[in-house]
Amino acid sequence: MATQRTFSMIKPDATKRNLTGKINAKLEEAGLRIIAQKRVHLTPAQAGQFYAVHKDRPFYGELVEFMSSGPIVAQVLEGEDAVAKNREVMGATNPAEAADGTIRKDFALSIGENSVHGSDGPDTAAEEISFFFSGLELVG
Ligand code: UDP
Repeated sequence: MATQRTFSMIKPDATKRNLTGKINAKLEEAGLRIIAQKRVHLTPAQAGQFYAVHKDRPFYGELVEFMSSGPIVAQVLEGEDAVAKNREVMGATNPAEAADGTIRKDFALSIGENSVHGSDGPDTAAEEISFFFSGLELVG
């Protein structure tokens, strides 16, 4: 598997608890390089647009409200098999089901306030990266 890029986001529950550094350490220890990073406070409209794929799901309203409730840290990660590796270090969506040592196991508060987002495939990664970053901002 060649070097790949993925999009990651540290969610408001984690920025609020000052966990950015601890989460970044887990990403870096997993072999992922943070090649772009910025802190952003999304408006509800921006959060809604980012999560538009979930607009018909029952949790959409709550998700949009949560994701615009405080700052997020948007990131681009690079490494071997980065999409799958990031999903592995994140852990399951529901922290009660997340494996030991994963970000969600150690830090998430609930299935909604689960500390991190990560792209679910290379095509989604490219779309999500371009939602937040221009090519000039990716410094590998
Ligand atoms: N979510 C939620 N309730 C649910 C399922 C998901 O609030 O029952 C939120 C949660 O923050 C999750 C996000 O919606 O991370 C996106 O859901 P997805 O199934 O894509 O999970 P992920 O890819 O983040 O693990």
